[in-house]
Amino acid sequence: PYKGKPKSEITKIRGENLTPALLTYYKNHILINQGYMQWLFDEEGRRFLDLFGGIVTVSVGHCHPKVVQALDEQNRLLWHTTNIYLHPKIHEYAEKLISKFPADSNLKVVYFVNSGSDANDLAVLMARMYTKRFDIISLRNAYHGASPYLMGLTSLSSWRYQVPSGFGMHQAVNPDVYKGPWGGSNCRDSPVQTDRQCDCSSGSCEAGDNYVEQLEDLIRHSCPKEGIAAFFAESIQGVGGTVQFPKNYLSRAFDLVRSKGGVCISDEVQTGFGRTGTHYWNFQGHGVTPDIVTMAKGIGNGFPLAAVVTTPEIAATMGKALHFNTYGGNPLSCAVGSSVLDVIEEDNCQQISHDIGTHLLEELSKLRDQFDYVGDVRGKGLMIGVELVADKKTKKPLDAEKVTKIWEDCKDMGVLIGKGGLHGNVLRIKPPMCITKEDADFSIAVLRKSLEANL
Ligand code: PMP
Repeated sequence: PYKGKPKSEITKIRGENLTPALLTYYKNHILINQGYMQWLFDEEGRRFLDLFGGIVTVSVGHCHPKVVQALDEQNRLLWHTTNIYLHPKIHEYAEKLISKFPADSNLKVVYFVNSGSDANDLAVLMARMYTKRFDIISLRNAYHGASPYLMGLTSLSSWRYQVPSGFGMHQAVNPDVYKGPWGGSNCRDSPVQTDRQCDCSSGSCEAGDNYVEQLEDLIRHSCPKEGIAAFFAESIQGVGGTVQFPKNYLSRAFDLVRSKGGVCISDEVQTGFGRTGTHYWNFQGHGVTPDIVTMAKGIGNGFPLAAVVTTPEIAATMGKALHFNTYGGNPLSCAVGSSVLDVIEEDNCQQISHDIGTHLLEELSKLRDQFDYVGDVRGKGLMIGVELVADKKTKKPLDAEKVTKIWEDCKDMGVLIGKGGLHGNVLRIKPPMCITKEDADFSIAVLRKSLEANL
């Protein structure tokens, strides 16, 4: 049973004692008391199917019994020492995490930190130290974190404050195959496609060519002649609204960036750990090997844990000074992280992502063909976006109030979905990787009902 203060008091405290910048989902807030696997329960015991997993963070399920057991065991043994002493957990976990990277890659060294922003900050520092260059390029519509460094990499206006931030950071045109000027949706790496054609089957992809040209242009016009430090990209944009690129874009962008002296950084904070179904890391689906990979969220199934993985050569430049993070690699977080890796294997989470994700995408694409409001269905595995539009031709975003109504109706019927994109008109479906086909079918029925009610 719920033991906290009444909801009215909790709401008052939130208004008075917590930062006003906090995002509070839903007009009639929900107060979550408990979670189990794909389910959340409010203070009255009402059950919700959690299709957003605490923003793509609960990877293997709320309070997964095996993760709870690992935490309990470590809890009794040792919480904290910092890494000035040896303790087995960080070493065993480091070895296990590195074993998840392609064997032929040189991604061998891991730094543990506490959040995605920590990880990306560190990646920026590493790239600059290693290349001895300064300029970094990210993509428009990307979210990489909220620190003063990263506010310059994050390119979504709703997350940017009007303060000096992100010196030497530039944004390239987003290779968005749905909203971008050149089409290309048929060459995105997804089981579902829309009606925008791109003749990439012949081996050339006009959309991809044009977006790479834009990147080249940016480097030529806005960066120093000496070259750049890094290119930073998610392999599917998360907060930006599950935006996918033409299949060949990342590999060509990586080649270009390396020819300008930069390193390539993959932000796998949302896309890693099997979520996209076909690969453990989504960069693998693009045929690229980054020089630095950052990860957070799903790595700890909700426990504060994040990491940066890189090559010994890049890591070596960090040896020029001391670099220290008090909680990074803490025994508790490493015990959790290690058990999450085991559970992903034992529970076949990657396979579930692939199978249930593909089923969801197929069913959602039927909604897209049936409803005028549903402009695009996209994604891969359990990383799905549904873009709601006022007009399928112009792709003008659906009025925010209507989007909110559809989304709130889903919540009232027991299904929690995320929202994202520059205009907040993309429904984001990224559940814990333990959902079942029945859950997927229930979610589709709920979304259909909500779309019908708001025609
Ligand atoms: N990168 C990506 C792709 C993210 O989605 C996020 C968080 N939404 C971050 C980095 C930052 O992670 P954190 O909130 O843990 O700092």
